[in-house]
Amino acid sequence: LRASFSLIQRESGFISGLVCVLHDVTEQERIEEERKQFVSNVSHELRTPLTSMRSYIEALADGAWQDPDLAPRFLEVTQNETDRMIRMIQDLLQLSRIDSGKSMLNLEIVDLTEMLDHVLNRFDMMIHSAEYEDKKYQINKEILEQSIFVEVDPDRMIQVLDNIMNNAIKYSPDGGTISGKMEKREDTVLISVRDEGMGIPKADINKIFSRFYRVDRARSRAMGGSGLGLAISKEVVEQHGGHIWADSTEGKGTTFYLSLPYFPYEEEEWE
Ligand code: ADP
Repeated sequence: LRASFSLIQRESGFISGLVCVLHDVTEQERIEEERKQFVSNVSHELRTPLTSMRSYIEALADGAWQDPDLAPRFLEVTQNETDRMIRMIQDLLQLSRIDSGKSMLNLEIVDLTEMLDHVLNRFDMMIHSAEYEDKKYQINKEILEQSIFVEVDPDRMIQVLDNIMNNAIKYSPDGGTISGKMEKREDTVLISVRDEGMGIPKADINKIFSRFYRVDRARSRAMGGSGLGLAISKEVVEQHGGHIWADSTEGKGTTFYLSLPYFPYEEEEWE
């Protein structure tokens, strides 16, 4: 709070009162601070891959382009860094569209059971592919027998589920099991994704939904992460009137929860 005082002085010179105005500057300052932090984060996040690319390009220009071993490897690094920057810019543009209220949902009535089943099957295929085979991950499905119809933007909701599943796999140890579960509550459906990974320290658990926040910056970067996935997921889920949160025990694993409003009107109408 900032307080400004003014004395009320009569023409006679007699002081008849005191006015005190309290300004709530904390909120403004916080927003301004966040904005500055965000710009600084974006600059830093873009500078890192650019600096790394420059050194590889310099090495290529200095003669490595003629080396049949080095050249393809250096080119691959620069390609990966470029891809990562493109992903980050796409994420930033999506956040900016959400911030400015320009990101409209294309709502459809979707069977959430089928959607989750589809996403989990896709990841199951992925972990059994040659690239992941030696990691020995497992996916456990605990979904409902019945259809659950909810009104969502299917592309956006799949993006959220993909993000949570990708993280679960990214932060899982070899041989880890990832369990995808769906439960019906009174007026919500609850999807949870549990992993047996490294977990998240208590102090960080709510911050992971902030833009660019990562518990382990170096590790996240090495995995190609932008630190924006969960921030986008939170915005998208809240656009749908839902909630997303996480619960974790360090060294044991993490569970991400996603709850969406659900009105079981269809069932009654059809019966
Ligand atoms: P990133 O691109 O870094 O994965 P996210 O926004 O998706 O960005 O996640 C933010 C941070 O939250 C990650 O860097 C990581 O520290 C933490 N995190 C997310 N999911 C998990 C998980 N399943 N287990 C442990 N840590 C996680």
